[in-house]
Amino acid sequence: MKKTKIIATIGPASQDISVLDALMQNGMDIARINMKYADFAFCSDIIEKIRKLNKQNSKNVAIMLDVEGPDVLIGRLNKKQVELTTGDKIRIYDKHVTGDETKFSTSYHNLVEQVKENTILKTSDGLVVLKVIDKDIDSLICEVINGGIIEENNSLNILNTRLDIPFLSERDKETIKYAHDNKVEFLALSLISSAEEVLQVNDMLIELNNDTTNIIAKIENERALDEIDEIIKISDGVMIARGDLGVELPIERIPGIQKMIINKCHHASKVSIVATDMMSSMEESILPTRAEVSDVANAILDGVDGVVLCGETTIGKYPVQTIQIMSKIAESSEEDINYYQLLDQAMRSEKQDISSSIAYSVVEISSRLNCKAIITPTITGYTAKKISHFRPKCPIIAISPNEGTVMNLSLYYGVYAKYNEKINSFDKMMSISKKIAKDYDLQPGDLVIITGGYPFEEVKHTNFMKIERI
Ligand code: PEP
Repeated sequence: MKKTKIIATIGPASQDISVLDALMQNGMDIARINMKYADFAFCSDIIEKIRKLNKQNSKNVAIMLDVEGPDVLIGRLNKKQVELTTGDKIRIYDKHVTGDETKFSTSYHNLVEQVKENTILKTSDGLVVLKVIDKDIDSLICEVINGGIIEENNSLNILNTRLDIPFLSERDKETIKYAHDNKVEFLALSLISSAEEVLQVNDMLIELNNDTTNIIAKIENERALDEIDEIIKISDGVMIARGDLGVELPIERIPGIQKMIINKCHHASKVSIVATDMMSSMEESILPTRAEVSDVANAILDGVDGVVLCGETTIGKYPVQTIQIMSKIAESSEEDINYYQLLDQAMRSEKQDISSSIAYSVVEISSRLNCKAIITPTITGYTAKKISHFRPKCPIIAISPNEGTVMNLSLYYGVYAKYNEKINSFDKMMSISKKIAKDYDLQPGDLVIITGGYPFEEVKHTNFMKIERI
């Protein structure tokens, strides 16, 4: 049983129910929809299919929606692809024009006022680079530093510039409302640049009376890095969005930033996720490169909670084969994790209270006795998350009478959650825990640790552990 969570982005290559089913059977824990490319009809179709498959397959695949954020997009062009030539001049207009090799407009209509001369602009995943060399009353005049193909709706990254754009557009607000109405478990916030922006979304959720949707902050620019500690503190987790990050910053900085964020998240007991280009050669090829296998494995060895497939599952030729291979890499790399180091690191960052002390002991003993699972009956998911933070080598089986808890735990490292109606006696809790363990390939004679807080509704912390044989 792999413990690293796989988030598969859904698109044309994976929207069919048979492909979604195969992704689910082969390790998808979260289905992600990026609102940059999707509308609400697409979301509803995918959510319906995933929930139907969850029932059919007894799984808890959750939904993540990426809120678009303050992206600047290239406007209408006179053909699907326009090729810019290195050394040419091009104008970017504030007013609407139909673009070609000499001009285009964008979704933002105040660039002339807000973008300084010598600013670098990048598009097409950073391949096309423009430099502002002059300004006119209605346009930026740019030199094409690196030519290449541009397309309508491509993001235009304007480096080192904070534009006066509200963080949430009307559509973004509709996305958050849609996520609430449709009980979406995770909202991933694109292009955030401050902790205050995360709070804006939090406030919206509070106004909607929503205390179950989790917020994942996507780190994609230098401004977010400047406030990384505050952002981690107020988010449920962080996605290291290497696509935009690699456009905004020198690409060679990404590995160090990735390690730093994974470490900070583990320290703060928050979820970390690595996204983009993990296995992108598999968009075209049936096998990944050695470097991609190493990339996925290294993120796992560093203690990441989840890894994201993007183009591989949205437009790739081999979405199912990709997730199969990613699951194998995860299972194999998890054998090589230095669990003692992660346990020690977690203990040093935790409060020295009863819950942490029990969680630490549970994980330590599970390793010493080679336990096959840690089972935790839980209402809010608190104990399961705490144990996950301590990174046991064996899986954590969480049993909850709260469907929201079951779904939210889908992103936590090592946690497999199962719905079970309310249990009202300690003995029943023991017998149900052992019975459910059998659904997870545990065999008669296997040692397990059962832990939680009891009596359920009275204690708000972990207060017991019991070692049992299946
Ligand atoms: C990224 O930039 O790496 C990312 C995951 O975001 P998006 O999918 O919006 O490009």
